[in-house]
Amino acid sequence: MGLSGIEIFKHLPKTNCGDCGVPTCLAFAMKLAQSQAELSACPHVSDEAKAALSEASAPPMRAVTVGVGDAAFTVGEETVMYRHEKTFVNPSAIGVSVAASASDADIDAVVAKALAADFERVGQQLRCGFIAITSAANASRFAEVATRVSENSKLPLLLVTDNATEMQAALEAVASSRPLICSVTEDNSVEMLALAKAHSCPVVIRAEGLEKVAELTERAASMDVKDLVIDPGATSAGRALRDRVLARRSALQKKFTALGYPVITWPGRFSAGDPVLEATYAAADVATYGGIIVLSDAEPWQMLPLLVLRQNIYTDPQRPMQAEPKIYAINNPGPDAPFFVTTNFSLTYFIVSSEIEGGRMPAYLGVVEAEGLSVLTAWAAGKFVPERIAKFVNDSGIGDSISHREVIIPGAVAQISGELAEELEGWNVTVGPYEAADIPVFLRRRAG
Ligand code: SF4
Repeated sequence: MGLSGIEIFKHLPKTNCGDCGVPTCLAFAMKLAQSQAELSACPHVSDEAKAALSEASAPPMRAVTVGVGDAAFTVGEETVMYRHEKTFVNPSAIGVSVAASASDADIDAVVAKALAADFERVGQQLRCGFIAITSAANASRFAEVATRVSENSKLPLLLVTDNATEMQAALEAVASSRPLICSVTEDNSVEMLALAKAHSCPVVIRAEGLEKVAELTERAASMDVKDLVIDPGATSAGRALRDRVLARRSALQKKFTALGYPVITWPGRFSAGDPVLEATYAAADVATYGGIIVLSDAEPWQMLPLLVLRQNIYTDPQRPMQAEPKIYAINNPGPDAPFFVTTNFSLTYFIVSSEIEGGRMPAYLGVVEAEGLSVLTAWAAGKFVPERIAKFVNDSGIGDSISHREVIIPGAVAQISGELAEELEGWNVTVGPYEAADIPVFLRRRAG
């Protein structure tokens, strides 16, 4: 919530009635502070207190949404400098730019490449987030390309031109898709901010240096244009990094609201056409507060590592990624197929299932609820122990799908095999490989 438990407590009724499901107001305040409860759970909180708490608890960095529907992305709303303090909230949006002056065929090729940048990793889809259309110095062409890209991709758009006439033409064509207006500058601020307000679209504020950016964001806010992204216009990668860090510190630690907005980055500005260098700078942007990252190209070798890096940084460290606990049938198993069990830590599930799949041998994989912990950690925490595994096997109905009664456990927990055999009456417990990578060989040996 952004406030301490004590600060929240001051606004609560202090009657300790327990109607919120927590015995005392102080305990409820502590839960609110840790985002483990909603203020609406207290039916007695006054309207004044609600207003005070919601204003005081507003994140120091504004959330900005670009696009509409399923493809829309939101950036900002961050509350911490470092992920280990709590978690980062909204992942960086990573997308690709295309010149409106390019041929239709070249534009279509970029759109196709952006759409192809769609990867599955540990149960999550990692995708190219947007397409940025750069100025054609021709209003009708800019609008035509915006329409073409919008219809062909359905991805959120960034409209990149400092020319208000060009921007107006494009907005008349695609404003309903809530594109990001890029950019408002000192020279065009009157016209561009009026367009942003008229079309209810978010805007990028670009100026040289954070001080000038802050002046412009305050001007925009005074015109009631509040969905802002900032571009401090750095001329080197080092300067850009410094600006991002200073902007985040100013917003979060100094409560300087004029810089409390996500940052857009252009790693190609500093890479002199070198795609490897551009990807390297983009990785630095992902790691350090880049909210929207615009690439010159969307080759898989550029997109995939950046999206994986983003996934790793923006995964909540307090909530392990989990696979659904159930029986997974892999490679069309029959009744005599082997039956493995493992935990529901996403990475464990995907590694084990990939090895079984890659081994081209049919098998059943039982994923046991273990609070998203890996095999050894779950065993040590008492979450992947004989009683729980036996209950899972009995409840899962796997016995109806297979003709044998053999369960294969990970080699890392070989020590529980005897106890599991006692819990699972009528079953044989086999100790499988320690490493998932050895599963294909293990399966081939069993098949003879
Ligand atoms: S319901 Fe409200 S007043 Fe009652 S204990 Fe919870 S926080 Fe306090």
